[in-house]
Amino acid sequence: MTRLVQLGGAVPAVAENAIPEHGPMTDGFGRRIEYLRISVTDKCNLRCVYCMPEEGLPWLRREELLSYEEIGEIVRTMAGLGLRRVRITGGEPLVRRDLPSLVRILRAVPGIEDIALSTNAVLLGEHADALRAAGLDRVNVSLDSLIPERIDAISRRPGSARAVLDGLEAAERAGFFPIKVNCVVMRGRNDDEVEAFAAVTRERPWHVRFIEVMPTGDNLGVSQDEYVSSEETLGRIARIGDLRPVAGPRGNGPARYYAFPGAAGTVGVITPMSHNYCGSCNRMRLTADGQLRPCLFGELHTALRDPLRRGEPLEPLIRHTLRIKPERHWLVQGSDEGSGGLRALSQVGG
Ligand code: SAM
Ligand code: SF4
Repeated sequence: MTRLVQLGGAVPAVAENAIPEHGPMTDGFGRRIEYLRISVTDKCNLRCVYCMPEEGLPWLRREELLSYEEIGEIVRTMAGLGLRRVRITGGEPLVRRDLPSLVRILRAVPGIEDIALSTNAVLLGEHADALRAAGLDRVNVSLDSLIPERIDAISRRPGSARAVLDGLEAAERAGFFPIKVNCVVMRGRNDDEVEAFAAVTRERPWHVRFIEVMPTGDNLGVSQDEYVSSEETLGRIARIGDLRPVAGPRGNGPARYYAFPGAAGTVGVITPMSHNYCGSCNRMRLTADGQLRPCLFGELHTALRDPLRRGEPLEPLIRHTLRIKPERHWLVQGSDEGSGGLRALSQVGG
């Protein structure tokens, strides 16, 4: 039995495309799905200006959240259908209790080759060693400035900068490699730091990825007035050195990478607005309350949690989600048209 749930707005024309009904997960456009982003909570200890409203959002109730065992069950089913890599995200995943136990569950799933975490690093200092011991392979850290006062201002949580920088160091000490640093570039807030971020990669093995801000219902001011294209970012960085295209670190993402000759790290750009990379999309998303989403944006999802709790088979629901996976997203810069009623990326894991 398949259920389609509407998040709000007009009912979209749902296109169901023909897919292979057996074997590895493939959508109607021939894209193999090997990667799942798993949100474990919609809550966060920060309020980044491009993500969450200052007052927070109506949080999911505890019983609405998938348990770690339920997440493990979904990942086991998908791994049997070709899933190879997972990323734990949120909200802020480290605000959920005992995340290492989820890592252990995922590590034990046959077929899963790579487990990564996206975090704001505030709690990473406390948990880096336990996560490493549990089998986490990699971390991506959000860091929008190298200046502590700006980190505090962008995250709207005074005092968070110290914890973030300590968290990053703890991740390096714990042996996570490669460390990818995500920086959302905003005009007037941090765009004057892109050269400094790039300069760090000459000495440290960081892979700094500059992200174009994407519009959601709660950040339209930022996405309208402060958007900086990746072309502009790369142009600025090119002024301080000879940037050459490189293959980049291993990972799952759509970033394009560059490096200065002899540098320890790389510079990457993630361009959801200026260059749509949907054609090579290899992913689906699982929200904290168990919606399997074929695309970051748009209304479409399949509810897995209740069927799972009723003991129903998941594969037909997963195949259904593959059939409705859209060819591309329809985001328009500075407008929440196309975002599917999404208020913040924290609701679906970014
Ligand atoms: N809390 C964790 C973190 O900040 O890394 C994981 C969740 S966060 C939603 C995942 C990623 O989405 C972060 O790198 C964040 O910078 C990015 N993000 C959030 N809102 C965004 C937006 N409107 N446009 C572009 N990137 C955004
Ligand atoms: Fe929290 Fe990450 Fe969103 Fe910032 S980007 S508010 S850290 S979920």
